[in-house]
Amino acid sequence: MVNKTIPFIDLHAQYLSIRDDIDRAIREVIEESSFIRSRHVTLFEEQFAAALGVDHCVSCANGTDAIYIVMKGLGVSPGDEVITTAHSWISTSETITQTGGRVVFCDTDPDTYTIDPAKIEELISPRTVGIIPVHLYGQPSDMDPILEIARRRGLWVIEDCAQAHLAEYKGRKVGTMGVAATFSFYPGKNLGAMGDAGGIVTKDAKLAAWCELYARHGGKGDHFIEGINSRLDGLQAAILSAKLPHLAKWTAQRRRVAETYDRLLSDVPGITRPVVGLNRTHVWHLYVVRSEHRDDLRRSLGDAGVATSLNYPKALPFYPAYAYLGHSPVDFPVAYGHQDRILSLPIFPEMTPEMIAYVADVIKGFQSQHV
Ligand SMILES: *Cc1c(COP(=O)(O)O)cnc(C)c1O
Repeated sequence: MVNKTIPFIDLHAQYLSIRDDIDRAIREVIEESSFIRSRHVTLFEEQFAAALGVDHCVSCANGTDAIYIVMKGLGVSPGDEVITTAHSWISTSETITQTGGRVVFCDTDPDTYTIDPAKIEELISPRTVGIIPVHLYGQPSDMDPILEIARRRGLWVIEDCAQAHLAEYKGRKVGTMGVAATFSFYPGKNLGAMGDAGGIVTKDAKLAAWCELYARHGGKGDHFIEGINSRLDGLQAAILSAKLPHLAKWTAQRRRVAETYDRLLSDVPGITRPVVGLNRTHVWHLYVVRSEHRDDLRRSLGDAGVATSLNYPKALPFYPAYAYLGHSPVDFPVAYGHQDRILSLPIFPEMTPEMIAYVADVIKGFQSQHV
């Protein structure tokens, strides 16, 4: 029978499934004392670039640094405006401010939670330099119109792929469409290290070289510029190399979990299931439903031993950190309307059909009392 405690994610189950590979990888790094800048780091960079079909991967300390480093590489400077989605993790916007740039938030698409391309153009000013779409929850943003606007208006596009490893848009992998893309390998991401880790991918050799230089104190031996210290360490690199061959299988398993939820929740009144946009593959970092009774539903799931999450509790413009922008709900009606309705259900590759059925049953029971 099902253990009534359903975790939101089970990293230990993933470790047990590949324990020998992980233990061997960690042992090798320790035996070689190759903790920093080792062959393990170079190898993972090569493997990850190959997995996406791009020429360059520059690893760094985390997915937040990745965004910051790329923007520095593109020359974002004080006063420059960067347009990004109102619905994301704060890394996407705080890094714009870190460069001295100004954050310009754009509302989201009602179905997919990703940036609404139809609302980008009206936000462009003479100071606008770029756009950062986020492939939120594992679903690609609608890239063609975004790329078209960028091309026509002379802007760059950085894809924030932190939640969308291996997702595709019209047959193209995310991370291959903008001038550069950033990934997080935070433990809970679809490809996760056992600590913090991140990476930048790009087809632009000059940009890759600059990012590498900047992230390594502006160069070893000679410091050509002042940089920062943002490194992927040998242990995390070796762990990521051990996990990468399993990523496609884990993604397929996530997809099966999502399909099972879709089926079991399809006739539950009052629950809005995730929508996958045309010509996109979703890699199901998160499975997010909407309910008018979200907080009560969440409590009821918690009482039944089901862990859930809010991703995120507020749309970015409504956090105190952005009070200075003076926004009100009418500025972002879609993202604002979603913030009190969204609920992330447990999803991870090792989730069993029994566990999914249990979660769906609790939701059914709750909704039957509340519509
Ligand atoms: C996780 C995440 C990041 C940042 O990644 P870290 O490795 O935690 O710094 C950036 N953007 C989005 C959308 C994320 O989900």
